[in-house]
Order: sequence, then C-alpha cells, then structure tokens
Amino acid sequence: MSQIRTRIAPSPTGDPHVGTAYIALFNRCFAHSNDGKFILRIEDTDQTRSSEVSENNILESLRWLGLSWDEGPGKEGEHGPYRQSERTNIYSEHIDILLKKKKAFRCFCTPERLDQLRKDQLKNKTQVGYDGHCLNISEEEVSARIKQGDNFVIRMKIPDTGDCVFSDLLRGEVSINWSQIDMQVLMKSDGMPTYHFANVVDDHLMAISHVIRGEEWINSVPKHLLLYQYFGWEPPIFCHMPLLRNPDKSKLSKRKNPTSIKYYESMGYLPEALVNYLGMMGWTMPSGEEKFSVQEMADRFDINRVSLGGPIFDLGKLNWLNGKYIREEMSDDEFVDKYTKWAFPKNNLTNLIPLVRERVDKFSDVMELVSFFLTGDVGLTEESFHNNKLDKDDILRIFQFSLWRLEGINEWNQDSIQNELQCLSKQLDIKLREFLSPLFIAVTGKPVSISVIESMAILGIDVSRVRIRNAIKMLGGISKKMGKTLLAEYRKLT
Ligand code: GLU
Repeated sequence: MSQIRTRIAPSPTGDPHVGTAYIALFNRCFAHSNDGKFILRIEDTDQTRSSEVSENNILESLRWLGLSWDEGPGKEGEHGPYRQSERTNIYSEHIDILLKKKKAFRCFCTPERLDQLRKDQLKNKTQVGYDGHCLNISEEEVSARIKQGDNFVIRMKIPDTGDCVFSDLLRGEVSINWSQIDMQVLMKSDGMPTYHFANVVDDHLMAISHVIRGEEWINSVPKHLLLYQYFGWEPPIFCHMPLLRNPDKSKLSKRKNPTSIKYYESMGYLPEALVNYLGMMGWTMPSGEEKFSVQEMADRFDINRVSLGGPIFDLGKLNWLNGKYIREEMSDDEFVDKYTKWAFPKNNLTNLIPLVRERVDKFSDVMELVSFFLTGDVGLTEESFHNNKLDKDDILRIFQFSLWRLEGINEWNQDSIQNELQCLSKQLDIKLREFLSPLFIAVTGKPVSISVIESMAILGIDVSRVRIRNAIKMLGGISKKMGKTLLAEYRKLT
C-alpha cells in the first residue's frame, strides 16, 4: 500500500479550539503508527473570517501541545503550498475541468431569489436547497450573461435519484439519499473556492490517504465522493471521529466550557497533560493506563479501538490528570522552572508593567495588583457585589448582555472590547462607569485594580468569559425563563 498520509485542515477563524487538537492528535497517531506522514493545511479561503492572528495561534497552540506536523506551514514539503489562499490558481484550473466535463454549471441566481426560494421551501415544508433553476441555461445565454457582467457562482451537479453508499472506517456502511444533497456551490462569485471544493482538490493533490475528521462532516461525504468521481480520482478512506461533548452531552461549546487551547495554557495546565487528556477522548490504551504520552499513544495506536460514544470533555477529570503530572512527572526544580516561566513570561510582564507602574510605589505593591492574572478563581462571594449601586437583576443583565456582545468580537483587544461595552452601556442607558463596575469585580475580584478593559484584553476572551459566568453563578444564576426574557430584550437593542 502507498504511504499513509493524514491531515488536519483548520480554518483560521477564531481561537485555537481543543477540538482541532483532538483531531490533530488522532491523525498524527494514526499516521505515525503506520510510518506515515501527518500534514497541516490551513483552509483560509473565507477571506472575511480568516485572520493571520488566528492562524498563528493555531500553529503556536499545536506546537505547544507537541503536535508538530511533518509537512505544512513552516515545514515545506513537495505538496505545498499548504495555505489555501496561496493555491487559488490550482482551484481555477480544476473548476475549468469540471465545467468542461459538464459536471458543474454557472448559476446566476441573485441572493434575493435564493432567499425567497428558501423561505418558500420552509413554508411549504419541502426539502430546502437549490432548485436547479440555472442547470439548463444554454451555452449562448451563459456567454451573453458573462459578457454583460452578471455575477455567478459555480455549482456541482448532483444525481436526481438513488443513494450514495460509502464506508466509514469507524461506522461501516453509511447510506445517504441524493435528494438530501444540495447542488453545492464550488466557486463563489469572487472566484474563491468553497470549503468542499478546495478540500477535495487539496486532499487529492496532497496525496491524503485517510481523511480523519469530526463527525459533523459526515453528511458532506457524498458531495466529496462525487467530486472524486467527476475528476476520475481515487478517494481517500473516510473516518469520522465522535465529537467532544460538554458534561450535559451537548456538543462542546464555548458557552459552557472553555474551548480555546489558549485558555488552558493561560490557566497553567501542562501541555503534556492536556494532550494526554485529549487522547482519552474515545480512546483507551490497550493496557488501560490513563497516563500516556503522544509517543506512547502512537506506538500502541489502533484506530479500531476508538469508541463512538460521545466523549465528554470534563474539566474535573482534566484537573485530576494535570495534578497527577504535577506530582508524578516533575521534580521541585522543574516545578520552579516551569511555574516561573508560566507566571512571569516576559511578554505578559511587558504588557502589564506599564499599567501597574502608575499605581505602585514599591515592588511589594505589585503582587496585590496583578494576582488576579495568575489565579483561576478570583474568590468572589455574594458580598463582592453588595456595595454596587445597581441591583442584582441589572447586574445579571449586564453580565449576560456583555457575554453575548463580547462573543461577536473578532480581534480581541482593548479597542474592540471598549467599543462593544461602551455601545452596550449606551443602549442600556447606564453610565459607562456604573456599567463597568460589576464587570470589574467579576473579572478582577477586587474593588480597585487595573482597568477592567485592559485586564480583559490581557486575560483573553476565554478567561474573561469564564469569570463573568462564575459571577453569574455566584449571584444565583440565570434561570431558563429569565434567560428567555433577557434574550428577547437583547434582541430589541439596536
Ligand atoms: N476546514 C475544515 C474545518 O475547519 C476542515 C474539515 C475537514 O477536515 O475536512 O473543520
């Protein structure tokens, strides 16, 4: 058999997610247990959502976890470039092949028509999807409309009837009726490929033998297989891993659990413990041992031992494992070394000191001001909010609305946080100072310290979010009913 080549293909559109590391770990172990190669490809064709900051964070976090790649950004190989935005000419060449073979067609439908179509389909309770309006436009008309400058996208043709039957390495035979599959857009009107198209072209050109990814992609397999067939390529083997779940079994989400790898780094988890914990998601070592390294996992890896029951990402269990590493894998000297590196990294201090020096007279004043950066729980009690001018319901409203508002921030920094919170305080008609005061206590645990906006900017979105959520809990939480009322109120704000 030819070489085993696996990949992860993250889109750089946000914080580096623990789910990405989990899939990376299993791909890497599978490849390395078979003398294969593990590839990292950046899927950044969505130009409005992708960012360099996010890409760098993903690369840094994977490196931090010890999940290095054999080919990818910074590690060029013969199948590069490994960033989709640098491969656009490849996609144009390949879309031409499909157009020539008449496996794809230009669609001139306006967004308004598609919107109306969708609304009608929802109203009539019929299958939602493209209705083939442009499927049979004559070539003359196509040329004329292109000449006239009409916008178009390129869609793939889909069989009218029958089932797509394929085999998944973990799930066996899967069958999906073609009527459920939309005539997928392959190329957008700006000439950029969609995920489905670029992903298949790249997996083929990068000689990927096994596509191991999250189960949310399983319904995309028919489209992908059809593309392989249209091009006349041999498809890879597909393997869809179970999704990570919150303790309540819902899909792991940042609203309930911190999902950013950066959060775990900033809370002082050890990378070897976190990656070990991710290895326990759906996998057990044949020996039953719970503590193992990436190398040990790769040495004994057998994909067939992955279990499909949704693995629960449970902070309590992670804390237990991390504690075990701290006690069993580190001498006191190493502890001192690692702790000081974690607590006083030069970058953080460089950011903090300009804020702190205004407020101190001697070094021994510093710790009191900055301790909340180095702690998980800021020690809130109900009394923490007693002196606040606002009543409990107003404070809860500020917390919940701020959480929703902060979620929308793409680039987390002082200006963006300031803008969002200032705008929210205006909409709620509360003076900014008063509005920020409960947030201040939630984030820093203190009545006076560095400004809350500067603090949140340095702490990062995940830590800030966890602190606000803890403060909500401390005040008795938000019931389902109250949550609904708040959401309705929030939606009315403009
Ligand atoms: N870019 C996709 C993602 O962000 C990749 C999915 C796949 O592995 O095919 O998850």
